[in-house]
Amino acid sequence: MIDLKKLEVWFVTGSQHLYGEETLKTVAEHSKTIAKALNQSEKIPVQVTFKPVVKTPDEIYRICQAANTDANCIGIVAWMHTFSPAKMWIRGLQSLQKPMCHLHTQFNRDIPWGDIDMDFMNLNQSAHGDREFGFMMTRLRLNRKVVVGHWQDPSVHERLNVWMRAAAARFDWQGGKFCRFGDNMRQVAVTEGDKVEAEMAFGYSVNGYGVGDLVKVVNDVSDADIDKLVAEYDAEYTLATSLRKGGAQHQSLRDAAKIELGMRYFLEDGDFKGFTDTFEDLHGLVQLPGIASQRLMASGYGFGGEGDWKTATIVRAAKVMASGMAGGNSFMEDYTYHFDPENRLVLGAHMLEICPSIAKGKASCEIHPLGIGGKADPVRLVFDVSGGSALNVSLMDMGNRFRLLINEVEAVEPFEKLPKLPVARVLWQPLPDTATACAAWIYAGGAHHTVYSQNLTTEYFEDFASMFNLETVVIDAKTDLRSLKNELRWNEMYYR
Ligand code: MN
Repeated sequence: MIDLKKLEVWFVTGSQHLYGEETLKTVAEHSKTIAKALNQSEKIPVQVTFKPVVKTPDEIYRICQAANTDANCIGIVAWMHTFSPAKMWIRGLQSLQKPMCHLHTQFNRDIPWGDIDMDFMNLNQSAHGDREFGFMMTRLRLNRKVVVGHWQDPSVHERLNVWMRAAAARFDWQGGKFCRFGDNMRQVAVTEGDKVEAEMAFGYSVNGYGVGDLVKVVNDVSDADIDKLVAEYDAEYTLATSLRKGGAQHQSLRDAAKIELGMRYFLEDGDFKGFTDTFEDLHGLVQLPGIASQRLMASGYGFGGEGDWKTATIVRAAKVMASGMAGGNSFMEDYTYHFDPENRLVLGAHMLEICPSIAKGKASCEIHPLGIGGKADPVRLVFDVSGGSALNVSLMDMGNRFRLLINEVEAVEPFEKLPKLPVARVLWQPLPDTATACAAWIYAGGAHHTVYSQNLTTEYFEDFASMFNLETVVIDAKTDLRSLKNELRWNEMYYR
């Protein structure tokens, strides 16, 4: 459901008429070569489209307008091969509504020591041309990413890749629809928020639907469709004996499949990108959706439990940014601690809904009682998660703004068996250490719900947040509590 190759980034080169036709022709050729090379790079996830060199305020304005209204353009990569006096850019940049990446590169990698003359210097002057452009973006207080290096350098492609994936997720949010089955878990604070403000800030809409409307679709699911999905469960997962055909709880597996199909049809029909549900509002559903939410997440839908629409949207953004990459992204909750002074760890899990995209090996499909919600035992996928670097990211409504909170963590594989734990789980050690990270998280007002990402780095979320001027607080190996507390105080001033 996510195809980044349909999306385009426009490669725009700025110049001016001062240099004459010959030089401008060379500038255009060089730009075409760079755009083509980026297009052919395996690291670049979207189409890169060369646009004719802009030389006047009108041309600049028109390309920005065209980018704004183009259906597939997710952003602009700009480069000043020569000098492009930046007052020419004011009107265009003020009107630009798509993200900007400033590629500070140069066509020639090396100085041609023996041959360099003033003609070469006049053509290859991005070292100062890009400074003029950078000044104007800063003068206009416009957020953008600056990438520095030769255009054939793989690390430059990697920086562009990160920004492009972030731009794709931003683009995906514009006009995106998120569906809430029921409302929030009653009395919970952090999962609340201003949905009007969110739509203004982020471009997506969040709307509620009666569980009865979903139940109607679930009840219309055909037996033949249920047969097919149950066979798929059997092929993909290790089914608990009682869930197998002829087993005592096989009907529960069929009920779970029916719920998954009904939700899927409902979400497809409404063109939704994510959803929430809550165990407090399940009227007419026989189980809390467990395997359904897990597998819908694995298909690319954002999800948040207990009505947590903010986490549903950020899970979706992570799914888009990580599209096609190895590893996974899941809804997550900090659940329980291991407070051994030698090895302090967090156990992350949820009642049911962890995405199997992060599973290590084949998941087992099990059924166990659930103490809350007052419904039949729900079917769920149970699995462990591999060790390695990962992130927890949370989005909170601070009243006058939203805050994105990122914690870098190091996942570790469980060193003991957890034979009685009936849910998927992850163990991690947050950076810089568990005590500092958890205190920092709590000082920053971080939610208990997050998106857990195996394949995205802080850079993705920083680029993404910058496209919305969204406050970003990072807890990583360098975090110390005094600086973090000051940062939070200073941010109160900045965002006032
Ligand atoms: Mn929860």
